[in-house]
Amino acid sequence: MYSGECDVKKCEKIEKHLLEKYRFVRRFVIGRTYLKRRIIAYSIGKGGVLCCGAFHGAERITAMMLYKFLDEVCGYMEKDEQFLRIVIQTGLTVIPMVNPDGVEIGANGVHTAGEGSEFVSECLLKAKLPHKKWQANARGVDINHNFNAGFGKVKENERKMGIYSPSPTRYGGEFPESERETASLCELCRENEYKLAVALHSQGREIYYDYGGNTPKESLQIAKNMAQLSGYKVSYPMGIAVGGGFKDWFIEEFSRPAFTIEIGEGENPLSPDIFDIEYPLVSKMLNYLLEYAIKNSDE
Ligand SMILES: [Zn+2]
Repeated sequence: MYSGECDVKKCEKIEKHLLEKYRFVRRFVIGRTYLKRRIIAYSIGKGGVLCCGAFHGAERITAMMLYKFLDEVCGYMEKDEQFLRIVIQTGLTVIPMVNPDGVEIGANGVHTAGEGSEFVSECLLKAKLPHKKWQANARGVDINHNFNAGFGKVKENERKMGIYSPSPTRYGGEFPESERETASLCELCRENEYKLAVALHSQGREIYYDYGGNTPKESLQIAKNMAQLSGYKVSYPMGIAVGGGFKDWFIEEFSRPAFTIEIGEGENPLSPDIFDIEYPLVSKMLNYLLEYAIKNSDE
């Protein structure tokens, strides 16, 4: 069910299956995209751990990983009543697809942008990229450069790369949270006191944990433990990857641990064939984060 190409239709099919199977999962819409697609979250309990994926169209395999992780955790919960109670008490929210418009453009082509198709075509033409390389939302804004963390630096880096306008990748928008995807996610975080957040991207088999002075002291050790479990390496962002990202904003805003995990190795979009190799590694890391939150939730 989780291998193979990912798009919105496939996610809807998976969702139906999961909601029928597990009655304790609450599904809700955190916002709508420019093209009116729903940004969907699945929650067990309140607060706790927040896992997000598919910020980038060409990284949609991360949505499949998060659906499978949700299925896995729910499966354990069903079999073990004590674990069920603990997870409900700790809280887990999963948002497999932060950028459904970008996923559709990447997976199924420019026409999926509807009234925005012409605009998307122009952006691709200007950047000399095929639709499958599309990373941004349907307005040509890179969601993971649109968060309010070092935004001035983000814009400076952009200009150094010759990016001055909407683009398939790396254009941060006119101001932080200018995009609905970004604003919806920030609002959700402000309303719910998540203890810890993780964002899945591809690729590189890397873990990022650090952003400026508010990075919690325990974050490095958590990242090291994930690295040991998965064989991924702990890394520090360079150049264009500095600031503007979800994990950067989460750390700066809440002074709580947040991580970016770059799954897999190769060129984006990664082949769906890597799912079976990579998922067990990702699962180990996500399960570890959940366990960590469980252990630290009574304080
Ligand atoms: Zn990414």
